[in-house]
Amino acid sequence: MFKVAKNPVVKEILGKYREVWALGSSMAVLGWDMETHMPEAGANARGIAFGQLAMLQQKATVALNPLVSKAEKAHDLDDMEKGVVRVMRRNLDYYLKIPPELVDEIQRVTTQATVVWRTARKKSDFKLFKPHLGKIIELERKVAEKLGYEGHPYNALLNLFEEGFTVRDADAVYARLIPGSRKILAKVSAAGVYPSKHPLESVKYQKESMERVNEGIVKLLKMPPKRFRMDVSTHPFTTGPAHDDVRITTRYEGVDFKATMYSTIHESGHAIYGLQTDPKLAYTPVDDGASYGIHESQSRFWENVVGRSHEFVKLVDPLLRKNLPFVSKYDDESLYYYVNTVKKSFIRVDADELTYNFHTALRYEVEKKVINGDVDVSELPSLWNDTLEEYLGIRPKKDSDGVLQDVHWSGGSFGYFATYTLGNVVTAMIWHKLKDGAEIREAVGKGDLMALREWLRANIHRYGSIYSPKALQMKVFGEAYNPERLLSYFNYKFVR
Ligand SMILES: [Zn+2]
Repeated sequence: MFKVAKNPVVKEILGKYREVWALGSSMAVLGWDMETHMPEAGANARGIAFGQLAMLQQKATVALNPLVSKAEKAHDLDDMEKGVVRVMRRNLDYYLKIPPELVDEIQRVTTQATVVWRTARKKSDFKLFKPHLGKIIELERKVAEKLGYEGHPYNALLNLFEEGFTVRDADAVYARLIPGSRKILAKVSAAGVYPSKHPLESVKYQKESMERVNEGIVKLLKMPPKRFRMDVSTHPFTTGPAHDDVRITTRYEGVDFKATMYSTIHESGHAIYGLQTDPKLAYTPVDDGASYGIHESQSRFWENVVGRSHEFVKLVDPLLRKNLPFVSKYDDESLYYYVNTVKKSFIRVDADELTYNFHTALRYEVEKKVINGDVDVSELPSLWNDTLEEYLGIRPKKDSDGVLQDVHWSGGSFGYFATYTLGNVVTAMIWHKLKDGAEIREAVGKGDLMALREWLRANIHRYGSIYSPKALQMKVFGEAYNPERLLSYFNYKFVR
């Protein structure tokens, strides 16, 4: 669809960008290797290699600044060329505004903080982590000041993860989503149809049997064997060293098979996005997802809207019964409720579709206040617990179930959590666009998952990051980040 750039300046940018691309691709393979195959003692050297490669990548990007500035003055660019210039400017903005000493300090502080955080969480002792977190917050505020912002300083950090997304946008999403979800949750609890637990959650499985199930799942999703592979790592992830080389990982806990199964589906959703961008975008800065939120909408579409539907449970039924003998005790109806338990819990990563957004809203509210200096780091544990109690009516008794549960802050990620909810919202916008899910149910019912993949390819995937996330949504849906769609989806699925 997109011709390789016509504009001579953009052409020159793309030619020189191959150096940046090659460094990024190499780091992706090294990162994948680190999580899947590297012997433990390799960590130090790998860290040094990453640092050096990242500096080379920064240097090669900054060298393109004059060309990008020149291209910004051109009036005859097509959408693809404009996208290249926009994405390059975003990358340059970060490199040019954040001094290397600050990047280096963040690196040092967060590396140490992550080690301390692990111990603090194990001991459930916030006092240990507090000084490190305080330092990280100070550095994050500095980053916001350097980057510059309009209105709230947190806007500078949100924009790093979701282009153009602001406190005003997030406030609007949560102000509708939280009260709406609370009402739905009350109805679901009162009806008692969706159970809070299921006997299959404590059943153990053989890793080899579950590997066969996951292999069957990626086959069902039509993952192309020559361009895709699946391995095992502690924390599942997706990485794409190249357009024709996309990899996912999954994990096997040995119990409660839905965890590994849905992790495989989730990561496959990310992988499908990467595999279905226009091949002409390969080696360019726009061969990537539009944003974290849009990427997450793709993984959650397959995991939740498709994967946790009645139709999908029927579709995988033979695969499960063939490989997991203990499943034979349960019919499809029971399996559907096994993959759709609804429970108010302390831990975000264990949350179901309906309670998940309360957890991200909590982190969003806390981060917004702390970056603005409205609350002090010492107040975080109680602010956390008060907010969860307000949202879900439950209160953590220890900080490992509260403020210490996520790794993100120790790594310096502030502004990230809201993108999980944006993913859920955009997933429901797709559901709404496909006739309130009717077209999804029909395709999955027939086992024709290719029809869904093709819709996503034609409407979202092929564009890579040519359009900003908001522009892409306006193009596809005529609206952006609309929380009403998620509430209608919840109502349809859980209340109707
Ligand atoms: Zn994801």
